[in-house]
Amino acid sequence: MSKILIIGGGLSGLVAAYELAKKGQAIEIFEKDNQLGGLAGSFSFNGTMIEKFYHHFFKTDSNVLNLLRELGLDEKISWLDSSLAIYYRGKAYSFRTPLDLLKFKPLKLWDKMRLGFSLLYLQRTNNWQALAAIPAEQWLKKHCGLRAYEIVWQPLLEGKFHQASGEISMAWFWARIHTRGKSRDKGKSGEKLGYLKGSLQILIDALKTECEKNGVKFHFNAELVKIISRDKKIILSNGEVHGYDRLICAIPSNEFYQSLADNPDISPDYLNKLKRIKYLGVICAIFSSPQSLGDYYWYNINDPASPFLAFIQHTNLVDKTGYDNENIYYLGSYLPTDDSLFAKSETEIETTFFSYLKRIFPAFTESAITAKRVFKQKNAQHVVDCAYLEKIPEYRIPGTDIYLLNFSQIFPEDRGINFAIREAKKLSARILCN
Ligand SMILES: Cc1cc2nc3c(=O)[nH]c(=O)nc-3n(C[C@H](O)[C@H](O)[C@H](O)COP(=O)(O)OP(=O)(O)OC[C@H]3O[C@@H](n4cnc5c(N)ncnc54)[C@H](O)[C@@H]3O)c2cc1C
Repeated sequence: MSKILIIGGGLSGLVAAYELAKKGQAIEIFEKDNQLGGLAGSFSFNGTMIEKFYHHFFKTDSNVLNLLRELGLDEKISWLDSSLAIYYRGKAYSFRTPLDLLKFKPLKLWDKMRLGFSLLYLQRTNNWQALAAIPAEQWLKKHCGLRAYEIVWQPLLEGKFHQASGEISMAWFWARIHTRGKSRDKGKSGEKLGYLKGSLQILIDALKTECEKNGVKFHFNAELVKIISRDKKIILSNGEVHGYDRLICAIPSNEFYQSLADNPDISPDYLNKLKRIKYLGVICAIFSSPQSLGDYYWYNINDPASPFLAFIQHTNLVDKTGYDNENIYYLGSYLPTDDSLFAKSETEIETTFFSYLKRIFPAFTESAITAKRVFKQKNAQHVVDCAYLEKIPEYRIPGTDIYLLNFSQIFPEDRGINFAIREAKKLSARILCN
């Protein structure tokens, strides 16, 4: 039996391990952290497990739903009424239904109509390929109009991608609208989002248990630093060397590149693709408080002066009885990892975030906070620019037994657990056929 090493214990690596071990393959996972889950990891907050970064599921996440069913976890998912608002110039506007758009005061009727028809078009068309090379900024300005672009889309694109915002592919934008449109219940104006009772940790735990039953060995605090492809060996940061027959790296493309740099046996074309993929980091502050600040689950903060892009009142989606009747909030910001905020301490980040939050909700009282944490993570979002289709690295490095599996291979859809599962299953099936 051949030995397969998997680097990375996020959902991609875990699902690949689960699929391959189920079919009798000998698997070892190496995770640099001391826990599994990666971006979908959870932690104990006031004694209750919750995601470090806000997560929910869509009705269209069929790969998630099938996996939950297979693991006997389908009863754990609740479908909950979602609500979305845009915060613009001191006011939160509901932004969920066509009627909300009609009531959206910052835009004139003609702008609203153009915006509405553009969204409808994006929901209906399947031809994303025609949009791949067009910058979202250009398409949105042309079809929604300048004012709608400046008020609704520009703050979101700039808030997410910063200097790269002008290069973002319209196909990526299309996928966000298209998927979301398909996730709505037909004939009903609202949208339901899925949340796992007990957090994503229950999915991670169930996958780990199934993997262990099938003989998967886990190594924690085990960071890959180098791949010696000629000898089929990996070197970890602690100096350990492990041999493999096949190697799956379920880690970000830039970290994969680092482990292969200067390797003369790897195709320069492949290395070049890896090198061209750029990432942004994420900062997420989470806090609990008896205070209820807003009426919505999700707020897009359409103000370039805001240090965070999304304000999420988690307990406006999930019942707060599961959290000792406290409200749970996330403040999320994507940014380049060389941004000065990324280097700041937890306390400095909280000070920056909370002082702006007070502007949105003057009643917000910091002294009412009962617990808080800040999480930072590099490589949280890849820059999906207009040349992205040419950059996507193949699963297998040509001429080797080394495979890459991560969300930079997913396009035009955005990252997401559903696609992580889909791609991990696809790669596992391919490996089992070889
Ligand atoms: C703020 C935020 C909100 C999100 N919200 C949602 C949502 O609502 N719904 C949804 O479906 N998706 C959401 N996502 C996306 C989702 O979390 C990801 O798509 C998914 O978790 C990616 O899993 P992955 O295994 O591919 O990558 P990762 O989670 O990045 O896993 C990679 C793993 O590899 C490990 N690793 C890295 N380098 C090395 C190395 N050299 N050696 C050993 N180990 C290494 C890391 O520690 C990590 O555990 C969100 C993401 C973010 C950042």
